[in-house]
Amino acid sequence: MISPVRHVRLARGAVAACILGAALAACGTTSASRPGRPAPAPAPASSVPASPTPSGTPSLAPGPGGLTPVFSNGPRTKGKTVALTFDADMTADEGPRAARGEHFDNPALIATLRELRVPATVFMTGRWADEYPDEARSIGSDPLFELANHSYSHYAFTGNCYGLPRVSAGRMRSDVERAYSALRKAGVPHPMPYFRFPGGCYDKAALRALDGLHVTAVQWDVISGDAFATDADAVVRQVLDGVRPGSVVVMHCTRSAAPTTERVVRTVVPELRRRGYRLVKVSDLISETNDRS
Ligand SMILES: [Zn+2]
Repeated sequence: MISPVRHVRLARGAVAACILGAALAACGTTSASRPGRPAPAPAPASSVPASPTPSGTPSLAPGPGGLTPVFSNGPRTKGKTVALTFDADMTADEGPRAARGEHFDNPALIATLRELRVPATVFMTGRWADEYPDEARSIGSDPLFELANHSYSHYAFTGNCYGLPRVSAGRMRSDVERAYSALRKAGVPHPMPYFRFPGGCYDKAALRALDGLHVTAVQWDVISGDAFATDADAVVRQVLDGVRPGSVVVMHCTRSAAPTTERVVRTVVPELRRRGYRLVKVSDLISETNDRS
């Protein structure tokens, strides 16, 4: 068990690192508990076709007035399923850092997921796909994975979001659309109609800005703490302590800023399976949610 003191220290460290790095989503604290955010939309009883992918892809129905729906976890009472998600972060202005040799990708992590046969959902920024098109295409073409949208720029959709630069309200929608264009340009055949806000930061105005794009905003209920972590064991404990049936775990596919993640996966996956969990994709959890009667 991770002690409360340790937990707090980890969270503070992550927040500080995020402010310095201004790169990774999901830093610091769980998004669902942050003030000023709407609660995740209740699960609707039916799904709607989503324009970025063929019809039939599981997605949540829009909220009142067509508001972009938010998904944070699947059902708690339909079996022990858990979805590992990996954010492929790269901010629009980080090209010079990549040119100097910084690695925003993590091929070893993807290889391990394949080796262990772990279904996973990858939320990729368009800038990442521009930088690593071959990897984007490989991930996006592998049926083991599903690839979704993490904005083009990795700029924040609200203020006060871990020091991330902020995208203006008038450009939120085009930023998401630009990311889909970048994913397709890289050769990703069917990017999913799921969108993860950079930093997990959103408010009603941000959700409203994306109305009509037919995306489901995907948050999480378990923060791994892998962002800027150096202690893999601590991240492992945080994940294992947090997972419940239907959980969505947020991790990162960004080697320079989440260097322990591949090692964490090697420990977490066998342990979750030993505990009876079945690893699934976000689409599976949304489907389970829609099937709930
Ligand atoms: Zn991110």
